[in-house]
Amino acid sequence: MKKILDIYKAAKSPVYSFEFFPPKAPEGEVKLFEAVRELSKVEPDFITVTYGAGGSTRDKTIRLTSELAKEFALPAAAHFTCVGGDKNEIRNILKQIQESGIVNLMALRGDPPKGEGHFKKVEGGFGYASELISFIKEEGFDFCLGAGCYPEKHPEAKSIEEDVENLKRKVEAGASYLVSQLFFKNSSFESFLDLIRKKGIQVPVVPGIMPITSFSQIERFKTMAACEFPDELVSELEAVKDEPEEFYKRSVRFSVAQCRELVKMGVPGIHLYTLNQSPASLDIVRELKK
Ligand SMILES: Cc1cc2nc3c(=O)[nH]c(=O)nc-3n(C[C@H](O)[C@H](O)[C@H](O)COP(=O)(O)OP(=O)(O)OC[C@H]3O[C@@H](n4cnc5c(N)ncnc54)[C@H](O)[C@@H]3O)c2cc1C
Repeated sequence: MKKILDIYKAAKSPVYSFEFFPPKAPEGEVKLFEAVRELSKVEPDFITVTYGAGGSTRDKTIRLTSELAKEFALPAAAHFTCVGGDKNEIRNILKQIQESGIVNLMALRGDPPKGEGHFKKVEGGFGYASELISFIKEEGFDFCLGAGCYPEKHPEAKSIEEDVENLKRKVEAGASYLVSQLFFKNSSFESFLDLIRKKGIQVPVVPGIMPITSFSQIERFKTMAACEFPDELVSELEAVKDEPEEFYKRSVRFSVAQCRELVKMGVPGIHLYTLNQSPASLDIVRELKK
């Protein structure tokens, strides 16, 4: 399996990747495979599979990452978080991931399990992604490690400057590329990129793009990801919130325009949060690859 950093290094055009989550029910898995089959028509460069909050999908994430990679002959990354595990448990899971043939890991701290307000470090575990990344390196695992970044600041950080200092620790620990939290204002991404380059972070930084498929998602994304929305986008979508076809068209048009501008800015790739749905991500990448 190809390592993701090598894909970015070798790319002569933007790298396209899709993110999926492990479904709860078996029917969801059938739909997931259908979605990946559909999306493989645009020849993505790699796919990723998330790790459920609190490590709840551990075995599924590992199994699905490796099954999808084999079935669709695609490089894949498993997401991994340090929520709820001490060093021994984390070492064992990393060995399991390695044995399943996965060579790419998205290394994250993770969010607290539902119902728990704050992230709690387990005794003998890790408090931050940078500590997890250092551990993976110290233990001699040969994964290509990606990490998350937040153009509009991680919600727990007091300031963007402080967040970027912490981001630098992750890169120095061994994260070889960064994928961003979803955002809808390219100006946020541009100033973030400016700031991190000034601070000496030089690894590839890939924008994470979320197609909006319903109006109610806007409030959800604001809470979940603390991201800002351009006023014009909100009013354009609100005007057609009960007309699914027109809503879809406007939303896809916005994402295509957002990605085109990012590509012009020279981003190494576009990472699409698919939510296991194929149509919008498929239409966006088809349009971008024209
Ligand atoms: C691309 C992407 C994919 C994701 N995939 C998943 C997934 O699959 N599963 C999942 O559960 N969650 C996922 N998340 C969400 C992520 O787990 C949360 O955003 C989490 O709250 C932070 O994770 P992190 O790895 O960015 O944490 P960290 O980098 O550890 O940062 C968390 C907070 O701690 C601060 N911090 C970091 N280091 C220090 C330090 N040394 N001292 C003081 N403060 C510090 C940071 O500024 C930040 O505010 C993803 C996020 C992104 C961007």
